[in-house]
Amino acid sequence: MALLQISEPGQSTAPHEHRLAVGIDLGTTNSLVASVRSGVAETLADEKGVHILPSVVRYMQDGKIVVGVSALAHATTDPLNTLASVKRIMGRSIDDLSSLQGYLPYQFMDQGHSVPRIQTVVGPVTPIEVSAEILKVLRYRAEASLGGELAGVVITVPAYFDDAQRQATKDAARLAGLNVYRLLNEPTAAAVAYGLDQQAEGVTAIYDLGGGTFDISILKLKKGVFEVLSTGGDTALGGDDFDREIAAWIMQQAQLSGQGDHKFMRRVMTEARRAKEALTNAEKVLITLQLEDRSSFEIEFTRQQFEKLIDPYVKKTIAWCRKTLREAEIEVAKVEHIVMVGGSTRIPYVCNRIHEFFGKRPLVEIDPDMVVAVGAAQQADALAGNKPNEEMLLLDVLPLSLGLETMGELVEKVIQRNTVIPVARAQEFTTFKDGQTAMHIHVLQGEREKVGDCRSLATFDLTNIPPMVAGAAHIKVTFQVDADGLLSVSAEEKSSGVSASVEVKPSYGLTDTEIETMLKDSFHHAADDMHVRQLVEQQVDADRVLEALRSALAKDGDELLSAEEQEKIEQAKIKLVLARQGNDGELIEQAIKVLEQESEEFIARRMNRSVQQVMQGHRIEEFE
Ligand code: ADP
Ligand code: MG
Repeated sequence: MALLQISEPGQSTAPHEHRLAVGIDLGTTNSLVASVRSGVAETLADEKGVHILPSVVRYMQDGKIVVGVSALAHATTDPLNTLASVKRIMGRSIDDLSSLQGYLPYQFMDQGHSVPRIQTVVGPVTPIEVSAEILKVLRYRAEASLGGELAGVVITVPAYFDDAQRQATKDAARLAGLNVYRLLNEPTAAAVAYGLDQQAEGVTAIYDLGGGTFDISILKLKKGVFEVLSTGGDTALGGDDFDREIAAWIMQQAQLSGQGDHKFMRRVMTEARRAKEALTNAEKVLITLQLEDRSSFEIEFTRQQFEKLIDPYVKKTIAWCRKTLREAEIEVAKVEHIVMVGGSTRIPYVCNRIHEFFGKRPLVEIDPDMVVAVGAAQQADALAGNKPNEEMLLLDVLPLSLGLETMGELVEKVIQRNTVIPVARAQEFTTFKDGQTAMHIHVLQGEREKVGDCRSLATFDLTNIPPMVAGAAHIKVTFQVDADGLLSVSAEEKSSGVSASVEVKPSYGLTDTEIETMLKDSFHHAADDMHVRQLVEQQVDADRVLEALRSALAKDGDELLSAEEQEKIEQAKIKLVLARQGNDGELIEQAIKVLEQESEEFIARRMNRSVQQVMQGHRIEEFE
């Protein structure tokens, strides 16, 4: 193999700069951020040491936006402004939502916008903006704990996400001020986390049962490279369904079907989830519910009853496993590893049924909540160029077929689903009328044959075709899908060279103007957010300095300082205490500096004295 010389002889190469990169698992229920530090990928905690961020955003009257646990705490008391599970509506149109509205207790506005908006106390918000708030929190967390700005991120999405949903996720990242290296399918990230690319060749199944979605993916490992053979699943199946089943069971047992207000339903759902999670380690739990007439309802709920409720869902996931294996043309016995992902795989019943189906014990060593973020972090690290000697090549597949409308409102598939991406495919078409000078091109996504049953992605016109007899023009339409699964389509008439192209902006995405406005808003808020963070940091610093000085003065103040010196320190101290009460970070910083200057001499004297105390009774030689 020939070597390519990239630097002049004698020139030294600049030391490799480590770029900060993170992986983000933007989940329906929970989100996580992870990073590779000293070669180890780990999730990052907030200032309280908590890793998991509930994907919940609360909008408050005064314009404050709260994300995570503190938002979740208000899910019951302020349900309409506390938005959870927005991932389910990312990239969806109002029409798509009608099927979900039953259990998403939000007020949607339909005012002819391209993106559905949820009505909140601060006005309408889009799912993209809500996701951006979650991403911002993770970004600040990462920047605080890694100590610098992020060069780029890898965000994971369900393998099933279509173009519109992927685009919406990218828009959210843009709003959060993040540079997206790429979107990565969640199952692929999980396989990376288990280091399965380091293993021998073989087939792996990734079973991901989270709160909102179920995904099954069949991966093939070949010479350290992954190929996704097939994917399947259900974007509306997960732990939330189990919660709902239990909630319905509770309502039925308590004969409460008449009570339907949001707040009460949320309480029942919260209790249902608590019971469900408790049953992972217990054989039975006690369910208690405060009723509206202030009486309370109590009932025992057993693992057996729970398993009966969720069995239809677990069966459904197994049917998907069977179907996806068939599509990959892989026999069950050929699957070497089964990787478990998602909080709901903690349920022993789920694990047992999967074990039974595959005839093998699934891998559960890595926390099923963390595994996707960990893999994404490894991928981000590689894409940031921090692993110059290692190569990581990931091949993903297209989740849904892409095609064009042809005569009779039929769809001609140009790229089949499960094709490895990035990919480019071209197909030739021709005119069907004599002298036809324009061609209307309609791009569709989906598996069905009729246009009406597929999702319309974009339309554009190829014009200025030279007039010819029908069937004489050669029009080459090229579909190109990038590594994120995003599509661009171009068309060219070969004899004349006229061409037209479109980058597919999914019809449910945001318009450029909308994005621009949101970006402006978010820059505005970003300044606020940064300001708040700096302030908090200075406040913490002030407390630390004040506390250290207080204890030093109490011990040695009288002994080591004159009254005049004590007075000066006291004044500087008061100034800092006052600054600490305000919200001007710079003022606090200055006051800290002044106080440190004033007490410098005192601290020096204390140090001298403690050195003298240590040395008392010893000869100087002992210390040499
Ligand atoms: P998503 O990827 O959809 O955000 P996660 O992978 O974070 O979801 O999983 C969240 C789901 O896992 C929730 O439905 C939650 O109730 C469920 N879950 C978490 N821990 C347990 C447990 N110990 N037993 C049963 N279900 C659990
Ligand atoms: Mg998940």
